[in-house]
Amino acid sequence: MAGRNFLFVPGPTNVPDRVLRAMMVAMEDHRSSKFPELTLSLFSDLKQVFKTVAGQAFIYPSTGTGAWEAALANTLSPGDKVLAPRFGQFSHLWIDMMKRLGLQVEVIEAEWGEGAPLAAIEQALMRDRERQIKGVMIVHNETATGVTSDIAGVRAALDAARHPALLYVDAVSSLASIDFRMDEWGVDLAVSGSQKGLMMPAGLGIVCASPKALLASREARCARVFFDFADMQRANADGYFPYTPSLPLLHGLRASLDMLFAEGLENVFARHHRLAGGVRAAVAAWDLQTCCREPRWLSDTVTAVMVPPGVNGAHVIDVAFRRYNLALGAGLSVVAGKLFRIGHLGDLNELMLLGALAGAEMAMADVGIAVVPGSGVGAAQQFWRRTDPVPKKRVARSEVVYASHSTGSINA
Ligand code: PLP
Repeated sequence: MAGRNFLFVPGPTNVPDRVLRAMMVAMEDHRSSKFPELTLSLFSDLKQVFKTVAGQAFIYPSTGTGAWEAALANTLSPGDKVLAPRFGQFSHLWIDMMKRLGLQVEVIEAEWGEGAPLAAIEQALMRDRERQIKGVMIVHNETATGVTSDIAGVRAALDAARHPALLYVDAVSSLASIDFRMDEWGVDLAVSGSQKGLMMPAGLGIVCASPKALLASREARCARVFFDFADMQRANADGYFPYTPSLPLLHGLRASLDMLFAEGLENVFARHHRLAGGVRAAVAAWDLQTCCREPRWLSDTVTAVMVPPGVNGAHVIDVAFRRYNLALGAGLSVVAGKLFRIGHLGDLNELMLLGALAGAEMAMADVGIAVVPGSGVGAAQQFWRRTDPVPKKRVARSEVVYASHSTGSINA
């Protein structure tokens, strides 16, 4: 199909040309004396993205799932009790992993479309007088439902119960696009991957561990080899890895961090917030609902759009892909067929997103959903024009030349 594929799944996201170019490198010796110049800066700069001073960042040739496993296996022992709310496919999969690693999981069930249930978490922690719960696991941004949970609220629940459990947060689809404050929120293990806010291909699993988590790792008895913090700490201290790292991805990460810092992290978050506002305006104009149940949980990186009864969301996605070369995210598991997702994170601006909204609108109309063509696109345009001041008029050089010619001067 001619033209670019419009990639609007909530990860992998569009990889900026600068990052693509940075990854086109000849292979180097990863044991050379020069190699640490690249890696040491990555370890320290990643901490800025997690907003931690005290934490330590680990980069694994892996994905978000590997980073989940690294966080759990390094800090817990088989039989340990942990507390985890389940409110979407990714919290579900993480819980499944916890069980398969031999942990005893107290699951708090919540509706898909809700955020982490703070009161229930606090009550469970209060009930645990013996302090058997070793960890509380929360998915910050549930990519399956477009829901962002209140991590500061989870920390407050732990503090209210005076509970010493470690706080584990999945920041896979929030890091570098929604504000994440590891130190301020007292997060002990923050987990992410390269293919979302970091604007890279999949292939890096990233974990940031607090000093308390690193201490716990010394006693933890879950088996780990590839993911072992201790091996990583020994090698990383001088800028090396205990195995062969992916050189192109590390160069890509360098370019991605440079781009994020050049824009400024707070500006990156504000851009995502504003872009998400336009998508939400479009959904309202289509007269459809988001899967997210309450405005306070609305995600700035992904919007899950419920399709009307009798329509299969997979049909919208299929038509969007085959007819308009637009990739939308599928409904997963419990919400399969009930929704489609628009990813709006990473290297993205208004006009790119208008293309996705236009394509979604056409595909919805094609499968019989009663949306008025242009309604969502128009609403998003209005929203973005309203929320960004019009730039001051700048006089172009050509106008100056033209004006001076018309008054007779030839030296303008
Ligand atoms: N957690 C969340 C919130 C995700 O969105 C994903 C993937 O989309 C994962 C974990 C798993 O990450 P990966 O597919 O990189 O293993």
